[in-house]
Amino acid sequence: MSVEDFHSAHPEPLKDGYSRIRGSPPMPRAATIRVRSHTCGCTPTSYELCEAAGLAFIPRTVRSSAGTHVSDSPWLRRAEADKLWTALLEGRAR
Ligand SMILES: [Zn+2]
Repeated sequence: MSVEDFHSAHPEPLKDGYSRIRGSPPMPRAATIRVRSHTCGCTPTSYELCEAAGLAFIPRTVRSSAGTHVSDSPWLRRAEADKLWTALLEGRAR
């Protein structure tokens, strides 16, 4: 048994020179949103990889005593979003 049995992916610690993902308030741009992947919810900040209408984006959820705050990454083509998701998990973007 390892921690992986209980947790989803944890992004790696940030690396020097990581890129910042520009966040903006969530917009209901599509009726159906599919969550393809997500990071672990045990940390105050978690991320999802969502697809909708042939595009993809990465909402960031920050939970604190002040409440829950969600901001969305720019909407990207799926291939670009997949690259950004990998970069996020590897600590190269956040
Ligand atoms: Zn976890």
